[in-house]
Amino acid sequence: MDMGIRGKRALVCASSKGLGRGCAEALAAEGVDLILNARGAEALEATAEEIRSTFGVNVTAVAADITTEDGRTKVLEAAGDVDILVTNAGGPPPGMWTDWSREDFIKALDANMLTPIALMQACLPKMMEKGWGRVVNITSQSVKAPIAVLGLSNSARAGLTGFVAGTARQVAGKGVTINNLLPGIHATDRADALDGGAAKQQGISLDEARAKRAATVPVGRYGTAQEFGATCAFLCSAHGGYIVGQNILLDGGAMNATL
Ligand code: NAP
Repeated sequence: MDMGIRGKRALVCASSKGLGRGCAEALAAEGVDLILNARGAEALEATAEEIRSTFGVNVTAVAADITTEDGRTKVLEAAGDVDILVTNAGGPPPGMWTDWSREDFIKALDANMLTPIALMQACLPKMMEKGWGRVVNITSQSVKAPIAVLGLSNSARAGLTGFVAGTARQVAGKGVTINNLLPGIHATDRADALDGGAAKQQGISLDEARAKRAATVPVGRYGTAQEFGATCAFLCSAHGGYIVGQNILLDGGAMNATL
């Protein structure tokens, strides 16, 4: 299927690795020019070069912390006018509800709620003016089914989800769609870090922790960044214009619910 977005321009945040990179690659495969971002310049440049040489699209790499105002200014200046925005950033650390101070909550809200909101506020007006735009926010399955040890993530992402639910309806009439992609467990560095913590806590090996987690997923394995990216590319495609304000769960059936 031709996604109908060849020649469009996408800003994909936090995209040197993992799910952000999966989205960037899937868009590049459809002929979309990219602005990539991450904090670490080396991995970012390597990813940018790999995508350029594999897909032949233009790729601009901006090393910056997207969760800071300075970082966002740098990224948005380099990005200029974009047709597609994929928001993403690292997730907050796990812990117990008793662990977190006000500062911890502010940091999580900044990273996983206020940053995507600021990016949307910056990019939506131009998309609306042009009459076409796509926004995909990478959130988490924790929006639908809480992950108890990720209380900071549960809180921040619930806030973003509320914002998107209303705003998506306000901009849809201008040809702009906003949707959220909710990853369940996917094989990335983030999953390794979470499994490492679980292995340590339970006194088992990393492989055992992985196998234990994979067994809780009906598909029987972790998701891949490629699968995740393909869904993102579809939402960003010409065919996604009637999908508005949705929270699309990619979790291999892990959440046991009828609806
Ligand atoms: P990952 O493999 O650790 O990759 C994170 C990417 O984001 C890297 O490129 C990283 O590069 C970049 N990044 C992190 N913080 C950044 C920041 N402040 N500014 C700019 N770039 C930043 O993580 P992932 O698994 O793809 O996860 C992506 C998001 O999905 C996270 O919010 C995570 O919590 C959420 N999620 C993931 C899973 C899963 O199973 N993987 C499940 C549910 C939710 P630098 O470190 O160089 O900046």
